[in-house]
Amino acid sequence: MARLAQTAGLTDVQQEILSTVRDFVDKEIIPVATELEHRDEYPQEIVDGLKELGLFGLMIPEEYGGLGESLLTYALCVEEIARGWMSVSGIINTHFIVAYMLKQHGTQEQKEYFLPRMALGEVRGAFSMSEPALGSDVSAITSKAVKDGDEYVLNGQKMWLTNGGTSTLVAVLTRSDEGHPEGTAPHKSMTTFLVEKEPGFGEVRPGLTIPGKIDKMGYKGVDTTELIMDNLRIPANRVLGGSTGRGFYQMMDGVEVGRVNVAARGCGVAQRAFELGVSYAQQRHTFGKPIAQHQAIQFKLAEMATKVEAAHAMMVNAARKKDSGERNDLEAGMAKYLASEYCKEVVEDAFRIHGGYGFSKEYEIERLYREAPMLLIGEGTAEIQKMIIGRRLLEEYRFQG
Ligand SMILES: Cc1cc2nc3c(=O)[nH]c(=O)nc-3n(C[C@H](O)[C@H](O)[C@H](O)COP(=O)(O)OP(=O)(O)OC[C@H]3O[C@@H](n4cnc5c(N)ncnc54)[C@H](O)[C@@H]3O)c2cc1C
Repeated sequence: MARLAQTAGLTDVQQEILSTVRDFVDKEIIPVATELEHRDEYPQEIVDGLKELGLFGLMIPEEYGGLGESLLTYALCVEEIARGWMSVSGIINTHFIVAYMLKQHGTQEQKEYFLPRMALGEVRGAFSMSEPALGSDVSAITSKAVKDGDEYVLNGQKMWLTNGGTSTLVAVLTRSDEGHPEGTAPHKSMTTFLVEKEPGFGEVRPGLTIPGKIDKMGYKGVDTTELIMDNLRIPANRVLGGSTGRGFYQMMDGVEVGRVNVAARGCGVAQRAFELGVSYAQQRHTFGKPIAQHQAIQFKLAEMATKVEAAHAMMVNAARKKDSGERNDLEAGMAKYLASEYCKEVVEDAFRIHGGYGFSKEYEIERLYREAPMLLIGEGTAEIQKMIIGRRLLEEYRFQG
């Protein structure tokens, strides 16, 4: 039987990249993932391996030392990696978003300065919109940048930075009223700053503190942090794209490709849950036969596999649309929404198939059960996706009466 989640029409190069990544996942990630996750340990050896494979530069243009691959190739790699361990896909995701924002919106000098080192994984990216009092409502950001000569002085507190400790470049979104008269719409008075810093915790640059890791229920191994700016001075040439007031749009563009990426993660985690469920169901016997022979369990497997296929198809469609240069917010929103919901359901079914053993830390499904909920929240909750989808539908189906 053909494996689930196959993708038609891939080039030889794409197939080769994917088979290399899949091999790496099977040999280097799956065997150690659960143990590292239980210890909340950063997977340094895995990250070094990904660097060697060139994954940190997968979508960075060749002229800057990357592989210049498409969003589709990237998303399919993420799907494979998340199948092994979702946290590892989180390590490359924020890096990928920042590199994408630089490629799309950076000045020539910013591209030349950052992208070649990002392609090598020497500079590692994180992005920071959320604050303690807001996540969905980005327009409510209160962190502020004030111009002072050739510099900006940044103050405020940020929350939930994936890779906040391990990164060396953070794209930080703040309010910046300079040049924008009072009453300007909030999304037109925001700016993205490219903030370089040392990796680690504590004061990582004068005026910039990363307090420590947030203790999470899942998505362990990858560090998630706060970020505190206390008169942090950033040179004016580190405003993304060179001019203020464009930060909101730049970040939303980054988050849009991030959504395809989160959808891909949902597909990968769901695939793994299916694999674990279908394997366990053939080994566990009740009432004289493998539980896979009970129709109730077969129906579960059928539903799980159908969801894996559907989510994969929508994710691939959203990535291809973006690669074709078309607007893809509708497709990305739908793919992210569906893949994360299905992922949670498939993981739960695989958990149920495991009976009591699913509750034991010895079984991989226990880890997946704690990881899947993060996908319901990150890169915009289900409610936010539905708002985006709903708005776009009303644009497309405008009543003409
Ligand atoms: C592990 C992890 C990693 C993260 N990494 C990053 C990162 O790297 N960078 C970053 O900037 N952020 C990051 N985030 C933050 C994440 O983007 C936010 O948590 C998310 O956007 C939701 O925001 P919130 O938590 O403030 O929830 P809220 O915005 O407070 O929402 C609470 C609830 O209300 C609902 N809701 C909100 N508004 C509406 C509405 N208008 N209509 C209907 N329902 C609504 C939401 O759907 C949700 O159910 C991360 C979060 C987590 C948990």
